[in-house]
This record gives sequence, C-alpha cells and structure tokens, in this order.
Amino acid sequence: MDACYDVAVIGGGPGGYTAALYCARAGFSVAVVEKLSAGGQMATTDWVDNYPGFDEGVDGFGLGEKMQRGAERFGAATIYDEVTAVDLTSDPKRLTLAGGALTARAVILATGALPRTLGLPEEEALRSRGVSYCATCDGMFYKGKTVAVVGGGNSAVEEALFLSRLCARVTLIHRRDSLRAASVYVRQLKDSGVEILWNSRVRRLLHGDRLTGLELERTDTGAVSTLPCDGLFVAVGRVPDTGLFRGQVELDTQGYLVADETTRTRLPGVFAVGDARTKPLRQIVTAAADGAVASHFAEEYLLSHSAP
Ligand code: NAP
Repeated sequence: MDACYDVAVIGGGPGGYTAALYCARAGFSVAVVEKLSAGGQMATTDWVDNYPGFDEGVDGFGLGEKMQRGAERFGAATIYDEVTAVDLTSDPKRLTLAGGALTARAVILATGALPRTLGLPEEEALRSRGVSYCATCDGMFYKGKTVAVVGGGNSAVEEALFLSRLCARVTLIHRRDSLRAASVYVRQLKDSGVEILWNSRVRRLLHGDRLTGLELERTDTGAVSTLPCDGLFVAVGRVPDTGLFRGQVELDTQGYLVADETTRTRLPGVFAVGDARTKPLRQIVTAAADGAVASHFAEEYLLSHSAP
C-alpha cells in the first residue's frame, strides 16, 4: 500500500521546508518530495545577505540544508524523487513519483521556478559547453576566462559580480539602458570591473565544439558586432515550474499558481507557496513566510476534514 501522510510538500526550497517545519511541529505527518537537493533555487545562490538572522550572511546551499534539518528535527521526511503526476482532486490526494507513489490529505505546492532561456538556436545543445544558467554552480569552470552575462535584474547583476571575482573579463549585456536590479547591487557594479553593454541583445551563439563568442545586435541602432567569450551566463528571469498542475490548479497567464496571501488555491486542501505562486515579491523570506501561512491553513483544513 502507498505511504499516506497528512501533508505532502512538493519541492524542498525555503517555502517547502518552512511549511514542513510548521506542519511537523504541529504534530502532522509530513513528507517533502524533492528531486535534487534541499534549498531549490536558493541552493544555487553563492551568498545570501538578505535573510534575517545571519549577521554575516550565509551561503545559499548551507541555508537550504539548515532548513531541511530544521524540519526533519520535528519528524518531516524527505523523499528524494520526482513527482511525475498528481491527482489533487481525489481524497486523499495522490502523487505518482518516478519511483513509487504516495497519498496525502493536504498538498503544498512549492515547486519554485526554472531559469528562462533566450530561445536561441543551439542554446540547448551548448548547455554545459559554454552556456550556463547558474554562476554559482558553473563559475569555477571559467576561472581566468572571458565570460558574458545577459540580463538586467538582480540575478544577472549578482551573477556578474560573482563572476568578476573569478574571471579575467566579465561583460554584462542588457537590452535596455537601465538595470532593473536593486540599487544595492547596482552600486557594487561600479568598482567590480564588470563592463556593461547597454541596449544590446544576443542574436546568435558562435561556436565550434563549445561556445566561442556572441553575435550581438544594438536594440537602438540595429548595429551588429561580435563578442568573443568562453562562457555565457543567461539570467533573464524565471518561469514557474507548474506544468504538472495545469488543468487541476488555476494558473495565471504566466503560469504562476493562483492563490492569495492565505496560500489557498481554489482546490480544497491544496496550497501554493514561494516563487511558483502569484505574488508581488519573490524572495527567500517571502517564500518562507508563505510556508508558515500554508501550514496554518493546512492545519485548519485537516482539522475540519476528517480522514477518509
Ligand atoms: P527579473 O527581475 O525578471 O529580471 C529579468 C531581466 O532579464 C530583466 O532585466 C529583463 O529585461 C531581462 N530579460 C528578460 N527576458 C529577456 C530576453 N529574452 N532577452 C534579454 N533580456 C531579457 O529576473 P531575475 O533577476 O531572475 O529575478 C527573479 C526574481 O527573483 C525577482 O523578483 C528578483 O527580485 C528576485 N531575486 C532576488 C535576489 C535578491 O534579492 N538577492 C536575487 C536574485 C533574484 P528588462 O529589464 O528589459 O525587462
């Protein structure tokens, strides 16, 4: 028979493990299903300075492990597996995993978001051969080399700053003439040695067996140029990882799970937390806050719906 839990959490990022901590601490049986490692997107962040309680900052991977251990201390289980299908309308709800299945009376969706690609020909084929979506993960491969980062948000600037400490030359390519990133990051760019190419977009990836450079186009004049480089780090935003729930849970036009500040979706007993949920500010601290809120409303749901 499939294992049955009071609460199943899909995704082990800060939202997922905070929900698991609160639910387990409230006495419910909880399983977190995580396909990679604890921490989600946060685990790929070199250094986190804006999560309270760490006066010197903390590395993202380590913080993910701490969150996992904190939830497990109260009995939450981690199942390292991939959820391949869900039935969120049945009672109990059913999750099919690559290596089995489980049921749960309530489900918390905490799947986060995936890097957006540029959609260029051969971008996928050059992944790990010059094209990367995570400087913390792959930056060391480019030590002493020449790299470019594309994007103008917090992630792009963070990645450029991280790479400027490792690489011989870092160029930040942005399609407009001002950055979207918070001023705290923009200020750090000034002394970092990162060169900025404004009003520019990547038109083509130049390569042999690996990436060798970029063909760029000015977005204002249309002028075309070539930038030789060993690596390209793409940081142009994220897309919510919610395809699995399409048709069962309401999604907005961009694919985010529709839920208000209570984290309740329209499906009874199904909650959405963290970066995958519609919300104005996607941060570690807001994902964690979602987890606590979801636990509160999951508890309310579990106590008012007796087990089938
Ligand atoms: P983002 O804030 O959505 O920024 C995406 C950037 O990529 C924008 O500058 C955008 O240009 C550009 N862009 C989008 N599509 C593009 C394309 N096809 N070609 C070229 N450029 C493209 O995404 P993010 O930086 O990944 O951040 C995601 C969320 O996580 C945000 O809410 C962010 O605040 C948060 N975050 C927070 C921190 C932190 O606080 N430490 C760190 C990282 C991320 P335009 O500006 O022209 O639209």
